[in-house]
Amino acid sequence: MTATNHVVTGALIAITISNPVIGLPLALLSHLVLDSIPHFGLEDLKLAKFVPILMTDIIFAGSVLVALLIIRPENYWLMVAGGIMAASPDLLSIPLFISMIKRRKHKFGVVQRFLQKIQWSETAKGLAIEVVWFGFIGALLLQKIH
Ligand SMILES: [Zn+2]
Repeated sequence: MTATNHVVTGALIAITISNPVIGLPLALLSHLVLDSIPHFGLEDLKLAKFVPILMTDIIFAGSVLVALLIIRPENYWLMVAGGIMAASPDLLSIPLFISMIKRRKHKFGVVQRFLQKIQWSETAKGLAIEVVWFGFIGALLLQKIH
């Protein structure tokens, strides 16, 4: 899923569970669950299309975290930590991204191959699922902010 949805979901899990020892690992696990749900993705990974979408996603995801840091709702640090934990597995894609830019063939590691495999459905239509998910989880997260 998009980094934005990973962040809001991880934040919601961490604040709902409130015990970081349990909540943060669950936020990390949520990445796998979300990625196995059909979601948005481009069938052909052309850099010119992919980069603006990725940047938009990063700006949205970052804005959620920055907003939490500015508003500082109760236990905001839990939400920020949960959001970062949930999105963090996608950082493993940075080497792949660099290979794409350098037009080099990329060798996938075991973890990366696993993370790719569970994303069995990445389509343009998946954007609808992302939007609904964001609306639902975002509304629940807003209720936790006080
Ligand atoms: Zn992912």
